[in-house]
This record gives sequence, C-alpha cells and structure tokens, in this order.
Amino acid sequence: MIKENIEFVRKKIQAAADRVGVNDKITLVAVTKNHPVSCMREAASAGITQVGENRVQEALQKQKDFPNNTLTWHLIGHLQTNKAKAAVAHFDLIHSVDSEHLLLAVQKAAAQIGKIQPVLLQVNVAREESKYGMAVEEFPHICRLASSLSHVCVQGFMCIAPNVAQVEEVRPVFRIAHALYEDMKQKFPTGQIRYLSMGMTHDFEIAIEEGANIVRVGTAIFGERNY
Ligand SMILES: *Cc1c(COP(=O)(O)O)cnc(C)c1O
Repeated sequence: MIKENIEFVRKKIQAAADRVGVNDKITLVAVTKNHPVSCMREAASAGITQVGENRVQEALQKQKDFPNNTLTWHLIGHLQTNKAKAAVAHFDLIHSVDSEHLLLAVQKAAAQIGKIQPVLLQVNVAREESKYGMAVEEFPHICRLASSLSHVCVQGFMCIAPNVAQVEEVRPVFRIAHALYEDMKQKFPTGQIRYLSMGMTHDFEIAIEEGANIVRVGTAIFGERNY
C-alpha cells in the first residue's frame, strides 16, 4: 500500500505544480512519526529519501536501524532547547526553529560540534494560540539575529496551516507565508533562502499552488497514526 500511496501523492504534487506552472523541484518529506521502521524501509524502497520526525528521541532510536544512513532527516516537531544538542547531532534540517531562545540554543549546540546547522524559521502565520511558531512581529528581528550567527544557516520558512473544515480556507495563510518567504530572501545572502515548507496530507496541493517547495506528508502515505 505504501508504494501505491507514494505514487498517488507524487502524482498529486505534480498535478498541483502543473496547475500553477511550477517547474522547480518539490521535495516530498515522508512524515514517519509513530510509524515503525518497517514502514520506513518500504517507503525508502519506493524512492523516499527524505523523512520527517517530530520527536528527537524517536528519530534517534530509528536511526540505529539505518546504519548506512541513506536518508535525509527532517525535524518538524517543536524542539525543546534542552534537546537542541541531540537535534543538531541527528538532523539534517530543523524546520521548527520557533523562537529566539531556540535559535540561540541551536547555534550553541552546533558551535560545540563544529557543524553549521541548516534550519527553517517556523512562523505562526495564522496566529493560533495552540500552535508553536514565532509571531509575525518577531520575525524580522529573528532574521537579523540569525544572519549574525556563525553556526546556523537559515534556509527558509516553515508554517503549519490551521486545521479547518473547508480546506480552501487555508489558502490565505499560505499566501501570507509565501510573501514572508519572498521577503526573507532579501534579508539573507542571495541563494541562501530556498525552502518554503508548508502543506500536509489535507492541504499540500493548495500549499504547492501557493509556492511551497517542501511538503510534509504522513497520513496519505502511511495511513492513520496510532498513539
Ligand atoms: C504530523 C505532521 C505532519 C504530517 O501530517 P499528516 O496530516 O499526517 O500528513 C506534517 N507536519 C508537521 C509539523 C507534523 O507535525
């Protein structure tokens, strides 16, 4: 089933890109949280190279089963500052840098091991109280701060749209996110800002139509998660 689901999602990604005439590569991150390593292997054999996890501990455990580490690991869930060190050691791209405090913790952890950590800034575009993400007002300040850090490389923008009954309602949120992403490109060296991470199972097609180039899809590939 997983293989068929991936093909189905890839077709939908392509169709959405075609609708708006996008030729750039769109990266599919398969969100593997709460799914076993066996499912991850199945996805990998169907061509998945990018995986997304929400929890550092779970990812660490799973990475032991991929000793050759052919996968690229994305941290997409909220990161506590006390886990920054482990996150830096184990993730290729951290999507969820959602505060100044966390940005500085990542800088410190990366400096300790001499890594330049690629990250995205997560902004709470829809201003939902229940969601992580920095406020839109903080964003310019945190961009300035990030530019001055030696061991963090900000490569883009991440947002999570509200879970609404009518999926079309998320379109304005994605549109604002895209505008902030374009604005961000002016704030960093040319070419550095290149990832707009938005869109999940229920809204990735709209996200792509609004300019996403990373989508994070779990349920449509692996089915419902059991908690
Ligand atoms: C779980 C999760 C996803 C995947 O959600 P699905 O609806 O299963 O596709 C994507 N992004 C984030 C931040 C998540 O926590």
